[in-house]
Amino acid sequence: MAIQDKVIIITGASSGIGEATALMLAKHGAKLVLGARREERLSELCDTIRTADGTAVYQVCDVTKPEDNDALVSLAKHTYGRVDAIFLNAGLMPNSRLSALHADEWNAMIDVNLKGVLNGIKSVIPVFKEQHSGHVLATSSVAGLKAYPGGAVYGATKWALRDLMEVLRMESGLETNRIRTTTLYPAAIRSELLDTISDADSARDMQHIYDTYQIDPERIARAVLFAIDLPEDTDVSEITIGPTDQPW
Ligand code: NDP
Repeated sequence: MAIQDKVIIITGASSGIGEATALMLAKHGAKLVLGARREERLSELCDTIRTADGTAVYQVCDVTKPEDNDALVSLAKHTYGRVDAIFLNAGLMPNSRLSALHADEWNAMIDVNLKGVLNGIKSVIPVFKEQHSGHVLATSSVAGLKAYPGGAVYGATKWALRDLMEVLRMESGLETNRIRTTTLYPAAIRSELLDTISDADSARDMQHIYDTYQIDPERIARAVLFAIDLPEDTDVSEITIGPTDQPW
């Protein structure tokens, strides 16, 4: 498979979609660099991958800090000599109505979900340009495609990813950098994401949706594998993916 020996960085690798993707890609022979803030989780995940004869290293990384993103990319280059793909997946979803004025949470979402992705792009693009190849993947959300009450700022950050990833795709084509882009738009996926909601009403509403519909993060991992595994001349730019029964 084309994924064998590819060097892939994953942010938000300590739980949920990132963790499931790390396990899936390692199983198919990728060499991984895993980043998140919770070191113990990353260490355990690397142990699990290595025990199954996979290849992975990790580094504590807060995506809101540009230097942490640089360090993650440097670790990949130093350890494996190149970077083939970066999955910019770290995110949080402290939903609430705008009238609740949870301004600190608005800022946290902008810092992690939007600026964190830009920080990752800034760190990796020079490597991709030098290599004349690379693949940027990012986790947006169905909230980046559809508006809903309680999801104004979360949706705004995910909506912004749609724009910037599409422009990255277009500019990479214009500049013939051969950088592929893939934006994922998942619906309800089992993870720790709901733990980030402090607003009681939003937490109750979202919990009900997830209890009713959620599917395993391994499904997203399969989509990531599919996009990376295709030949270098083929770009899967957008994937909307969620539970079959979820109507919105
Ligand atoms: P989880 O809460 O399980 O995972 C979120 C990950 O992001 C964790 O690994 C967390 O690690 C990491 N993270 C959060 N803040 C930071 C930070 N400042 N720096 C580095 N890492 C950070 O939820 P999911 O797996 O669901 O979330 C992954 C992505 O998927 C997010 O972008 C989310 O918005 C998106 N998504 C999820 C959906 C779902 O239904 N689950 C649906 C649509 C999109 P740590 O705390 O260790 O730093």
